[in-house]
Amino acid sequence: MGPVDSAQVIQHYYDPIGHWIGGRFVEPASGRLTDVFNPATGQVARRVGMATQGEVEAAIAAAKAAAPGWADMPPVRRARVLNNFLALLNQYRNTLAAMITAEHGKVLSDAQGEVTRGIEIVEFACGAPQLLKGDYTDQVSTGIDNWTMRQPLGVVAGITPFNFPCMVPCWMFPVALACGNTFVLKPSERDPTPSIFMAELLAQAGLPDGVFNVVQGDKIAVDTLIEHPDVAALSFVGSTPIARYIYERGAHFGKRVQALGGAKNHMVIMPDADVDQVVDALIGAAYGSAGERCMAISVAVFVGNAADRVMPKLTERARQLVVKNGLEADAEMGPIVTGQALDRICGYIESGVKEGATLLVDGRGHTVPGCEGGFWLGGTLFDHVTPEMRIYQDEIFGPVLSCVRVKDMAAALELIHAHPYGNGVACFTSDGNAAREFARRVQVGMVGINVPIPVPMAWHGFGGWKSSLFGDMHTYGEEGVRFYTRQKSIMQRWPGSIGKGAEFVMPTAK
Ligand code: NAD
Repeated sequence: MGPVDSAQVIQHYYDPIGHWIGGRFVEPASGRLTDVFNPATGQVARRVGMATQGEVEAAIAAAKAAAPGWADMPPVRRARVLNNFLALLNQYRNTLAAMITAEHGKVLSDAQGEVTRGIEIVEFACGAPQLLKGDYTDQVSTGIDNWTMRQPLGVVAGITPFNFPCMVPCWMFPVALACGNTFVLKPSERDPTPSIFMAELLAQAGLPDGVFNVVQGDKIAVDTLIEHPDVAALSFVGSTPIARYIYERGAHFGKRVQALGGAKNHMVIMPDADVDQVVDALIGAAYGSAGERCMAISVAVFVGNAADRVMPKLTERARQLVVKNGLEADAEMGPIVTGQALDRICGYIESGVKEGATLLVDGRGHTVPGCEGGFWLGGTLFDHVTPEMRIYQDEIFGPVLSCVRVKDMAAALELIHAHPYGNGVACFTSDGNAAREFARRVQVGMVGINVPIPVPMAWHGFGGWKSSLFGDMHTYGEEGVRFYTRQKSIMQRWPGSIGKGAEFVMPTAK
């Protein structure tokens, strides 16, 4: 199916968007509906139902009922269902991408990239039987063996942000399901459609009813998931204040929690870096997806005279950005997700000007013929930003790049260490030793050397440090498998090897 056909499909998709409980679409019961916008036109495209506590409890009950059967199914058979899902995702990747562009606004090619990164996690999850096979030690003592196995937790929940409505849920549920858990997803209310479409594909793939459920909603749905005794673990991705809240509340209710938060990613440019490569990297990483990526570069740190070499080309390229409806083939950047987000970002631009930063490119007032009502903002570039400014300190989550100048690598590292976030970071240089030292010393979870957005591959796991992640485990990869399973150790011996008499000393190897 091509992109145009896909766009037509979603025009006829559910409205209002409801939930997916026990293997079927459920109309929202509450009457509490929230508008979902097409950000390119500013029009309300459809509405989404906000779940009541009762609807969330119904989803948890469906997941609980399905849990024993799914956990008992041999891992290789669970993987086969995920393999079917993988084939369907590949078949409908353009439909999913068009759904993302229609509600998020990101350009279609970027949405296709998002779907591909989600598909890669499903590919990883299909191999999970290998990761679940456990360890075995023969003869830990005479006639005694000891082994460990990893068992599912039961019902687990995922709460996801607007900026990756397909990829971020895919960081969670494929791995959770492969490990034998059942799942309740609470996606973002701003772009809810892909979640229901993925639920339909999972059902088509042969997933038993109740193994995967979706509840649309807000704080009421989230709090029900946090507090419900039948939910064993919570995976969250979103802003830092909510991540911290979910981590603390989840811990209070005795749950396992991984809560990924916001970011302010720095890219350090050494004087020996290639100018054209730096400009390409900054333009793509700062303005791709309108800067609404947790791995977007929002601060460029120029070391020594690097700024003098890069800034003229960077400014020119930022001015030339093609900002238009993401469905158009030549669009480089689409609109901002909502009018509210647009106002927040413009507020930051205003504050940067007031605080004395040099506004080299101002994206405010951008218009797109035929899409006058859309939430438009062009790429925005500030120079001479300093650490006490709000535009440096806060996560703006929009197409605003702040340039900072420092004298050497040590000063660049100091700046990064002082910042509360620690999600991603990059260093551009042609000096291998400088790169190596940077990668070893920097206090950030994901590092790119001449790679601006170093999102780890499916089998490596994703996670930041400091206020960008609360919890012990990164998401997906082997850490994901550990998060969604608990270890059991079993020690056995058989009557033929058991000696006579009670033992009163701590057993040791004999
Ligand atoms: P958000 O925190 O507003 O929302 C995330 C989820 O939490 C949504 O499902 C939302 O409905 C829910 N939520 C919102 N307010 C809540 C409340 N008061 N109580 C309970 N639940 C609530 O985030 P967003 O605006 O959707 O996404 C953007 C943020 O996500 C940015 O901060 C970005 O950096 C972050 N993000 C981080 C990563 C990462 O891997 N670290 C990845 C993607 C996005």
